[in-house]
Amino acid sequence: MEAEKKKDIRSLTKDQLRDFFVSQGDQSFRGNQVYEWLWKKGAHTFDAMTNISKETRERLESHFVINHIKVDQMQRSKDGTIKNAVRLHDGLVVESVLIPTKNRTTACVSSQVGCSLDCKFCATARLKRMRNLNPDEIYDQVVAIDNESRLYFNKPLSNIVFMGMGEPLMNYNNVLKAIDKITAAEGLGMSPKRITLSTSGVPKMIKKMADDGVKFKLAVSLHSAIEDIRTSIMPFNASFSLADLREALEYWYAKTKSRITYEYVVWKGINDTQKDVDALVAFCRFAPSKVNLIEYNPIDDGQFQQANAQTIAMYVETLERNGIIVTVRRSRGKDIDAACGQLANKS
Ligand code: SAH
Repeated sequence: MEAEKKKDIRSLTKDQLRDFFVSQGDQSFRGNQVYEWLWKKGAHTFDAMTNISKETRERLESHFVINHIKVDQMQRSKDGTIKNAVRLHDGLVVESVLIPTKNRTTACVSSQVGCSLDCKFCATARLKRMRNLNPDEIYDQVVAIDNESRLYFNKPLSNIVFMGMGEPLMNYNNVLKAIDKITAAEGLGMSPKRITLSTSGVPKMIKKMADDGVKFKLAVSLHSAIEDIRTSIMPFNASFSLADLREALEYWYAKTKSRITYEYVVWKGINDTQKDVDALVAFCRFAPSKVNLIEYNPIDDGQFQQANAQTIAMYVETLERNGIIVTVRRSRGKDIDAACGQLANKS
């Protein structure tokens, strides 16, 4: 109980930490030292802070806790992909994934426990949203994967995608704070250009991101550019319509000049006709964009089936003929349920 009453020290900004020391009659630069231990050096205990006096460490101990994640289980796919089951301080679990390719290693991180959206084809959607992740819980997933990347692939993490569990724009403030730490010199010092936030498309929040002048990239899980089809597979589209999404994306591009990536799965009998691809082409004209056709990862009941190669080829041909860049993405980590849409804590 005692521990629960104490504040998580990592919820404090650097200034707040400096103020804490001043309020204790100490000097403000102690705040900088502790901040560095917490974020740059990843200390999980106050005792690890060796240049801080015992007395000060005890004082910190009496006021604060350091909540941190723990990688409970790590699974490795035969293609090299690693999936971490990450236990949070309150016992809940999320998953994050390390995807190695020839030139990069990418972390796919979660932003919520469960998800508040209801995409019919996604395993995470079947878990109700339990809570948002705190900035440090998002940051720690990245640090854990960076360590694994160094250990198993001899190089630091190069890219981050917010494509794990949850809808990042439904936990925007914490995601932004985590990205601030990831990109800060006193955090991981990564370039925001190597970070992609993927959203199902929350128009109001896309505009807010544009207003906030964020420097990371935006991906939108589109899956259909036809209103009623999109609503049938992503029911929240009834409230966040394609028309609103379009307007928000135009706003995003006008403000950021940053090209949008559309993620799109082609399913048999759902979005596999010429009419569907024509609607996608028209949608791509609203703002500079490219399309990633992603492979469907079955999540069990057989309601959704990946379209055949011929249909995918029809999509690629039509998009290219219209001058739209398209990439066909293979799934990674399928054998350990680490691929897109498969994160659901089977363990
Ligand atoms: N909520 C965010 C991020 C998580 S999902 C978003 O919707 O973008 C990451 C990507 O995986 C999204 O593009 C999503 O549509 C896709 N996805 C979900 N379930 C999938 C599945 N079963 N197979 C392939 N991709 C899936």
